[in-house]
Amino acid sequence: MEVISLQSGSSGNCFCVRSGPVQLLIDAGISGNSAENRLAERGFEIRKTTALLITHDHRDHAQNMGVYHRKYRLPIFVTGKTFEAARRSCNLGRIEKVNWFVAGETLQFRHVQVHSIPTPHDGADGVAFVIDDGNRRVGVLSDLGHAFAGLREVLRSLDAVVIESNYDEEMLESGPYPPGLKARIRGPGGHLSNHDAAQLVREGAERLQWACLCHLSAENNSPELARETHAAFVGPHFPVHIAPRYDATDVLKVR
Ligand SMILES: [Zn+2]
Ligand SMILES: [Zn+2]
Repeated sequence: MEVISLQSGSSGNCFCVRSGPVQLLIDAGISGNSAENRLAERGFEIRKTTALLITHDHRDHAQNMGVYHRKYRLPIFVTGKTFEAARRSCNLGRIEKVNWFVAGETLQFRHVQVHSIPTPHDGADGVAFVIDDGNRRVGVLSDLGHAFAGLREVLRSLDAVVIESNYDEEMLESGPYPPGLKARIRGPGGHLSNHDAAQLVREGAERLQWACLCHLSAENNSPELARETHAAFVGPHFPVHIAPRYDATDVLKVR
């Protein structure tokens, strides 16, 4: 399997997972052009995408699903509540057809199963995804709310993971955000800290080939701090990639 973070953070999220002929895009928070070009630079064609899966209704994940659908003819897979909430908060434009799923359901694309896992994040109906091609299992786990029950078991079942590592606890505490926003981020419907994510990665470290840390905050985190925290939990030799806030990663292989 091959995984790319095309961009991740509050300015927009989009991930690609490919197994043979099945190419999945997860979220549409960046422009169609950015997604198309960054894929092309890595030898991927956006028009060959089998399905566009949406995790939740927040703008940085959902706002361009209509563009991807109209411009590249991508079939959208989304829950009803997420779609309705995204319609209210974003201008999605005309969308002819939507493929519905229910949070917790498993979708099948040829040989690939996509498990949706409901999250306690403060979207309308958020999910994370585990993609299983019968050989390897990859998690795309962002905007999780908190380390909810069952997440540790998910981590132990994975061969590679893209996981949010949003903030450093001390930077958030001493940083510029107003108290209400700080409380939202560290609250049960917010985001995972470096510490939360590192603990989860440690759970899965025996089987995981690598972790790609995503959704890093610009104000309350740095790639160096995220790396340091993870190294403290999983050791200095465990492969950790960082998803850039305005660019894509290399193609990350799962062997
Ligand atoms: Zn987000
Ligand atoms: Zn969110």
